[in-house]
Amino acid sequence: MPQTSKSWAMLHAKCPRCRRGNMFQGGAYNFGSNKINEFCPHCGMRFEIEPGYFYAAMYVSYALNVMYAGALWTGTYLLTHNTDSPWLYIAVILGGCFLLSPLTFRYSRVFLLYWLSPKVHYQPHLDTDDNPKHV
Ligand SMILES: [Zn+2]
Repeated sequence: MPQTSKSWAMLHAKCPRCRRGNMFQGGAYNFGSNKINEFCPHCGMRFEIEPGYFYAAMYVSYALNVMYAGALWTGTYLLTHNTDSPWLYIAVILGGCFLLSPLTFRYSRVFLLYWLSPKVHYQPHLDTDDNPKHV
């Protein structure tokens, strides 16, 4: 039985249970279509495990933004060696976090479901080409 790797499934925002169905309706940068599906189109898992579950993704996205800020600050310093003005750093960090926000939205939910949800487990028997929802 072919198995989908966890890292590939996370990168492509696939369902954490079957690693086949898409968690999101469109691409991350397709304006207006970066919405999470209510159910996995492959195995039927409900992504929002309980009402308000994705509020917890805010903490994950906060952590991601702190990581971006650190990386952008370091990159800006290495490129410009600016020690005079904080405004360059503020502009780069705010602009970078804004441009990355569709990915932050998406991967905060992916990380929440893959790493921070103890009840969600990969089920290899659902990782098949035939649609187990209709079997
Ligand atoms: Zn699924």
